[in-house]
Amino acid sequence: MTRILVTGGAGFIGSHVVDAFVAAGHAVAVLDNLSTGKMENLNPAARFYRADLRDAEAVAAIVAAEQPEVICHQAALANVRHSVADPAGYALVNVIGTLHLLQAARQVGCVQRFLFASSGGAIYGEPEELPAGETCPPRPLDPYGVSKLACEHYLYSYRHTAGLEYVALRYANVYGPRQDPFGEAGVVAIFARAMLEGRPVTINGDGCQTRDFVYVGDVARANVLALTRGTGVYNIGTGQATDIQTIFRKLARLTDYRRPPQHGPCKPGEARHNYLDARKAAAELSWRAEVDLDEGLARTAGSLVALTPGSSPAGGRRVVARPLGRP
Ligand code: NAD
Repeated sequence: MTRILVTGGAGFIGSHVVDAFVAAGHAVAVLDNLSTGKMENLNPAARFYRADLRDAEAVAAIVAAEQPEVICHQAALANVRHSVADPAGYALVNVIGTLHLLQAARQVGCVQRFLFASSGGAIYGEPEELPAGETCPPRPLDPYGVSKLACEHYLYSYRHTAGLEYVALRYANVYGPRQDPFGEAGVVAIFARAMLEGRPVTINGDGCQTRDFVYVGDVARANVLALTRGTGVYNIGTGQATDIQTIFRKLARLTDYRRPPQHGPCKPGEARHNYLDARKAAAELSWRAEVDLDEGLARTAGSLVALTPGSSPAGGRRVVARPLGRP
């Protein structure tokens, strides 16, 4: 059993990571300010601290109280477009907040490993090669990506100066239950929710842009493996490019949605294609994506069925998505 402090453990990905750690028998504490996270996501077996990463004293006090052997840092501001509007705010949470955690880890001395939620979608920008491998030059297009890359550099430096081992997992586009269907990120959750409610669905641009969609349960499993394996950066993706039109078609089939998509303007600055080469994670973490897109989309739409009033068959929809017990 390992003592683990998970930041952002009430958020979409963080809560699945907490579930996976708890299921593996670890003792988990969560630090989250609930800005986008929700108490209902939180695993009841985890101890909870409501605190903000920008508050260095609070962060240090929690780390000192918990004496974690591993810090798993999932908390961040993660909206690309908001980061363009507020780069300083993003740097304060994502960079300075991470430094507060790293300093606290250095002070307590018991932290052996630091796991970091990085972003393969944001760090490579418009990748020089596809699928993008870890050696692909990082050229983030937006302040969010810059903040993630800055953290990776700090992790490298802390390993050198403080002997703190780290694993930075560069996630592809993560989707699955508990993703916010009202935000601007998370095309799967946004489309599925709109379809279940019978609302119009807007594809930005022609829908031929491609992404690497990785299921959240697979991402959580990568974090479990990284508790004891690996060092440095790893891509966590499927290696498969899926265009947005395909996501629309598959979800429409699952939710029996009959309307055609609307098309809006392309989002400026968004990469056209991005998918990741995750062979390093296979070789060194023994990690591979296991949930294929059809299965993952069915689970995601099923979780929304459970939450969406009027989306049940009684609401007139023949939903073939697979409902889950706990979303
Ligand atoms: P999320 O918004 O659901 O989770 C972020 C969590 O961090 C929330 O619970 C939020 O309340 C918490 N948080 C935010 N600011 C905080 C602060 N100042 N102090 C304390 N807690 C704070 O987002 P997510 O999609 O689950 O992302 C989790 C991590 O994975 C982030 O680091 C994100 O950058 C990274 N990531 C996500 C994706 C994706 O596709 N969703 C892809 C690559 C990387």
